[in-house]
Formats: sequence, C-alpha cells, structure tokens
Amino acid sequence: MLIEEIKRLKKEKNAVILAHFYQNDEIQDIADYVGDSLALSKIAANTDKDIIVFCGVFFMAETAKLLSPNKKVLLPKADALCRMAAMADYDELLAYKQANPDTVIVTYVNTRANIKALSDVIVTSSNAEKIIKNYKDQKIMYVPDKNLGLYLKDKLGYDIQVWPGFCYIHELLTVKDVERLRNEHPEAKLLIHPEAPLAVLKQADFVGSTKQILDYATNDPSQKYIIGTDKGIIHALKKANPNKEFHLLSRGLNCINMKKITLEDLYISLRDEVHEITVDEEIRKKAIIALDKMMELS
Ligand code: SF4
Repeated sequence: MLIEEIKRLKKEKNAVILAHFYQNDEIQDIADYVGDSLALSKIAANTDKDIIVFCGVFFMAETAKLLSPNKKVLLPKADALCRMAAMADYDELLAYKQANPDTVIVTYVNTRANIKALSDVIVTSSNAEKIIKNYKDQKIMYVPDKNLGLYLKDKLGYDIQVWPGFCYIHELLTVKDVERLRNEHPEAKLLIHPEAPLAVLKQADFVGSTKQILDYATNDPSQKYIIGTDKGIIHALKKANPNKEFHLLSRGLNCINMKKITLEDLYISLRDEVHEITVDEEIRKKAIIALDKMMELS
C-alpha cells in the first residue's frame, strides 16, 4: 500500500528518489537510483525532475541542493545527520585557512555547505585519490576524515595534513576484527572502505568506496568476501551477486543515522513535501566553485 502510494506520488509530482547504499533495504528497493555520494551527486546535478527526494543524511541532500538550486530537494527525516560532517567546524577551518593561505583545502563531500564554501576542491571516496594527484607538489589539508587523509598520504607520499574527524563506524574497526574474520573465513577476500584506520586498511585485499567495493566483488572470480563498510551495502552486493557469500567485518558497521528513513517517512515527505533543504545563496556560490572543481577533475 505504502509502496504503491509512493510510486503514485512520485509520478504525480515528477519526483526522483535517490538512495545511498547505506540505506535500509526497502528504501534501496523503491529508489530510482542507489549509489555512492559521487554517483548520486551527478544524478542530482543532471536530473530534469522537479523534486529530488534524497534518502541519505543531511549533507547529501544539501549537496544535491547546491548542485540543483532550482529543484525542490527533500530529506525524508530531518534529523538524519552525519556524525563525521559535524566534526568540521566553520570558525576553526576559517582560522586555519587564514593562517595557511598557501595550503590547498581538499574537503570530503561529507561536510556541511559552509565548510565546502571554504574549500578549494571537494572529493568523495570514489575520486579522492584521482583528484588529489592534481595537487602533488602542494601543501594539502584534508578535511575532515583523518583516516581517508592518512590513507592517501601513506599511498601517495604527498604533504597532506589531516583534520581530526572520523566516521564512528569505520573508526571502530580493528586488526583484531580482521584476524577473527580471517580465521572464520580463511578463503574470503577482505574489501574495506578507506574511512577505516590505516592499520586495518593495510590488511585489505582491496580498498575502495562503496561503489568500487560493489564493482570489485561483482567482477572478481572469488566466492567469499569480508566487507569492511556499513551493512547497508550487503543488500546491493547480494542483489548483484546472489551466489556469492558476504560477511560483515564487524557488527558495529551500522550507521544509525543512515537507517532512520522508513517507507512511511518517504511517503510523508513526498505527500507533504517535507523536509525541504535550503542553502544560503552566498554560501552556495562559494561551495559550488569547489564542487564544480570536483566535477571537472573526476
Ligand atoms: S557511515 Fe559514517 S560517514 Fe557515513 S553518514 Fe554515517 S557517520 Fe557519516
């Protein structure tokens, strides 16, 4: 019933539903597109629909609004917030930028619009390595995910400083988790998201974004995998690979805020056109420069 109503409203209102891989299974199933931050940003930037319903966390819907200012962008649950995004403070970054005018501010998409507005370029976990290579001989500040920043610094050997932020679910992963799961599934390959600590990433067979993990597992001949990112991705992995086995590296890989949106929230959001995302135009003008730079370089 709810599903039918959502489909009817979506058609009636010329809306598109975007969902991140970390969303609840039923939200992924009803979405028009399921993807990672980069893919969803590109869809948001190019859609001809009047309404974008973003099933993710606040910064994702806000990024869609930055890229599509003339569309109505809705986040079905107002308090679906990313804890990592809250770790980048505007005044602190502004002070850092003023004190370090020769440092390139490379900012993860998991940030609020005002942080993007202080940045030179935005990156996602899919394109961070590719984009950062354009700044090889420059001083770089990577905001706000220290783990992804340290991973890139270790891999590329560049002069990268990192902001002390992190994703709480990936931060909790340990080498002990790896040893335990490897013992239980010795033949499985270990695929991990780069928001995990470097010591854990060093154990991986493959490090990549959610979409890159999905593509790797789909194109790889192995049958078993240990997955080091949010449990929501298991749904897409199983859909694409029904005969393969997937085991979560830790039971803690469950972002609570990413699971807040229910089918009922989605229905109410479409019906009543809540909760609408707005962005200050001055902030948007500055943030879009950094986002356009990402689009140009990715
Ligand atoms: S999984 Fe981590 S980075 Fe992603 S929304 Fe949740 S807290 Fe933020």
